[in-house]
Amino acid sequence: MSKKVLVIGEAREGSLRNVTFEAIAAANIVSDGGEVVGVLCGDGDLNEMGQEMVYYGASRVITISNPDLKTYTSDGYGQAVYRVIEDESPEGIIMGHTAIGKDLTPKLASKLESGLISDATEVVADSGRVVFTRPIYSGKAFEKKEITDGLVFATIRPNNIPAFTRDDSLAGNISEKEVEISNIRTIIKDVLRKSSDGVDLSEAKVIVAGGRGVKSSEGFEPLEELASVLGGTVGASRGACDAGYCDYSLQIGQTGKVVTPDLYIACGISGAIQHLAGMSNSKVIVAINKDPEANIFNVADYGIVGDLFDVVPKLMEEIKQMKV
Ligand code: FAD
Repeated sequence: MSKKVLVIGEAREGSLRNVTFEAIAAANIVSDGGEVVGVLCGDGDLNEMGQEMVYYGASRVITISNPDLKTYTSDGYGQAVYRVIEDESPEGIIMGHTAIGKDLTPKLASKLESGLISDATEVVADSGRVVFTRPIYSGKAFEKKEITDGLVFATIRPNNIPAFTRDDSLAGNISEKEVEISNIRTIIKDVLRKSSDGVDLSEAKVIVAGGRGVKSSEGFEPLEELASVLGGTVGASRGACDAGYCDYSLQIGQTGKVVTPDLYIACGISGAIQHLAGMSNSKVIVAINKDPEANIFNVADYGIVGDLFDVVPKLMEEIKQMKV
């Protein structure tokens, strides 16, 4: 049965995050030929971003522009999106499993008295059933979930469900909704970004990660260079963060970020279970470690036993040659 499905879009510094387009693709699967309605909150003209959502497969988009929605707060976005949900009565809601998605969706689900399937890595529709796959036990196993009655509410993990190809011949209505926002209890004074180059780790296609084997903050420089040659970004193990070689915003793992890039290059990382919890579902894993017994080799597709300070520059040269 076809459904009306809302997609809660997410923007950063004036551009939509890629996971918004992936959520639209997931919503199209859930809607089964029904309507996919984008929702976008912010301050100023949101028309252009609304248009992008249409080009990626939203049937129409509702924008809510309000100075109180300039930066994300649970209270502000919660009220704005809830108003849209009340007016639209969707049968499904999809959002990215991002920091904002993880904060906003449980609050909405609780208010709507609905369930929530979080962190889905796959959505499949079959004969009217919609089945979500999600990791459990820190990614060591996967479970299948289905909502058989009521609102289909889910968050999707970035980089897992492919977005549709952008098609600027697609057309859809973009309407602006006025929502009165009140009682925002959080005051955002400033937003400080600490990632190495502004690329969000959870959406990066290529990650070059360093561990304690990198030995110093200067030791991260060849990794940054390799990441830049590959069009990727740098991540780290907690060992490297604890040692003060890099900022905790780069930490990948159970208590850091969960990533699923196309390529993960682990340099001087032993492969502790808590680190694997954040990266073992990467599509291709390359490990560089001087210890042939290191656990990281058990999850690696390609392993290089050697000193990272020899291997990384050589790898970089080879890649540069290939690009010429
Ligand atoms: P190490 O284990 O010290 O490994 C360093 C590796 O570098 C070794 O394998 C060594 O052979 C290699 N090496 C050294 N020099 C070189 C060189 N020149 N060239 C090549 N290889 C070299 N960890 C995380 O990463 N993320 C988490 O989210 C996380 N959460 C945790 C939560 C809890 C509750 C706990 C208890 C721990 C958590 N940890 C986490 C920590 C985790 O258990 C490990 O301590 C940590 O991952 C180790 O980091 P590492 O691999 O960089 O360091």
